[in-house]
Amino acid sequence: MSGSRSLSAVISRQTGVMRADVVVIGAGALGLSTALHCALRGRSVVIVERDTAGSAASGRAAGLFKSIQADELRTSLARSSIEKAISFGDWAGVPLEVARSGSFLIARTGRHKEFVRAEAGQSGGWGVHLREATAAELAGRVSYYRPSGDELAIWCPEDIYIEEPMSLVRAYLAACRRHGVEVLESESAVGVLVSGGRVTGIETAARQIGAWTVVDAAGAWARQVAGLAGGRVPVAPVRHQLLVTEPLPEVHPAGPITRVADAAVYLRPARGGLMFGGFEAAPLPVDPRSEPAAFRTSDVPLDLGVLRDLAGQVRAEAPLAAQAAVAEHRGGLFTMSPDGRFIIGPVPDVPGLWVASGCNGSGFSSSPALGEALACWIADGSAPGGAAALAPGRFGALTDDTLIERGIWQYAHYYDPVPPDQP
Ligand SMILES: Cc1cc2nc3c(=O)[nH]c(=O)nc-3n(C[C@H](O)[C@H](O)[C@H](O)COP(=O)(O)OP(=O)(O)OC[C@H]3O[C@@H](n4cnc5c(N)ncnc54)[C@H](O)[C@@H]3O)c2cc1C
Repeated sequence: MSGSRSLSAVISRQTGVMRADVVVIGAGALGLSTALHCALRGRSVVIVERDTAGSAASGRAAGLFKSIQADELRTSLARSSIEKAISFGDWAGVPLEVARSGSFLIARTGRHKEFVRAEAGQSGGWGVHLREATAAELAGRVSYYRPSGDELAIWCPEDIYIEEPMSLVRAYLAACRRHGVEVLESESAVGVLVSGGRVTGIETAARQIGAWTVVDAAGAWARQVAGLAGGRVPVAPVRHQLLVTEPLPEVHPAGPITRVADAAVYLRPARGGLMFGGFEAAPLPVDPRSEPAAFRTSDVPLDLGVLRDLAGQVRAEAPLAAQAAVAEHRGGLFTMSPDGRFIIGPVPDVPGLWVASGCNGSGFSSSPALGEALACWIADGSAPGGAAALAPGRFGALTDDTLIERGIWQYAHYYDPVPPDQP
């Protein structure tokens, strides 16, 4: 079936059972985007969300979109997502405000300068607009950053951010409803129905929903949800935190994003102040499977000391990050994959079960293109534009220890990952 008009899920008068073409589990950025793109392809879609849309990782994101990526596929997904965020109103029919700020990618050590220069050269070859900037330009454009004059700074004019992450979640939700998607909040998937060797739907506490296609987009709970059908999704949830300062007259609200690769930190204007976040070398892994069933993202323990230590690494250049009063400190879980790449596609050995996960800290910003790729794959039966490389079946069996070890490595090397063709 194809077409531009979506169908609504139906409830059988005889049995009371709801039926749809596609059921998506989880209303974060990935689940919502996948649902929307399936609906745009004429599928009837139901989303079940245990709490409220955006209540886990997506509503806590920094909202940053980054055009420089470690490989060509991620670059194309990132750039397509930037275009889709900017033109959201045109294709989704709902307005979305985006800050077209551009960004600076900075390196201060010899090793990181070499890495960033190589990464920028490679990205330029894949079509990303960027160029080296002088310290004077950096100082002129970024009110909250004082260059030493010895750094490498790459100007990336395509980069954008979304001021409040919930605005993307709300835009997806409104677009989903506009295109006929049924969104069931406060409804947890407790079972995935399997019959005759394939998925036939899901079960919640309230009902059964029949569907030949079920998408596991349960974020940090993706492993458990896949496990309901005996499927395997190798992701390791790892804590990530950021802070937003009180409003500061020194921060120009229209200024760009700044990323300092050697310190593994990012900064941007936020709510009249500064947002600061970063990637510590030894992050906290959190496995919801070992937590009580009621465990939620709001239960992830936060530690401001981690951010203070990271801010100390850029104290000379961005003193406000370490000194200014904190208005908000938030955090949640990244779903790290062993190779740092997304995991989308059919779950091995469970026909009808698909996954959208393995965000590695970029799931919010890549959600527009990832959702589209997965919806195309589901509709056409073949992966579009190289997306087959992201299929969950690419991993062999991994122990939990290896999964966590690799996930932590990918997290700590967010700004200097090893390209996929290297060990
Ligand atoms: C502090 C922070 C900053 C970040 N900054 C950025 C950024 O700047 N840019 C970027 O691209 N990414 C960023 N990320 C990462 C980004 O937030 C994630 O990659 C993205 O939100 C993941 O979306 P998701 O839909 O996979 O997961 P989630 O948003 O976590 O959604 C999963 C949903 O599934 C639901 N669920 C779980 N189990 C069930 C069940 N059994 N039944 C029904 N529903 C269920 C959950 O309640 C949840 O709502 C950040 C993350 C954090 C924590």
